[in-house]
Amino acid sequence: MATDRQNTGWVDGCRAIAYQCCGACEHIWYFRREFCPNCGASDPRMCTASGNGRVYAMSMVYRAPSDELHPHAPYLIVMVDTDEGFRMMAHGDPLLAIGDRVRARFIEFGGRLIPRFGKPET
Ligand SMILES: [Zn+2]
Repeated sequence: MATDRQNTGWVDGCRAIAYQCCGACEHIWYFRREFCPNCGASDPRMCTASGNGRVYAMSMVYRAPSDELHPHAPYLIVMVDTDEGFRMMAHGDPLLAIGDRVRARFIEFGGRLIPRFGKPET
């Protein structure tokens, strides 16, 4: 499974959010590891998240970390508790609030395809 880089969990080109699951203790986590952080078992399996969750926290970025991203500021960063049970950070639509139900979609940002959470379309 190709990912955009080692420490993030979305699958490049597939528009899906990936996480890992332990076959021994059923623990789940977002940041990729070679072993289970709960029981130490090796060979965790890759799982694909539904993209659904709830906003846990949020922060508006007014000063972008690079010249390339300055034209995008201000933009919202959200922490989302996914329906699968792990928490992840991603971009969010501007009018979200803590506690909102959200669904991920993929957008191009700074030359990369990234997940962005917004209210689910009804
Ligand atoms: Zn485990």
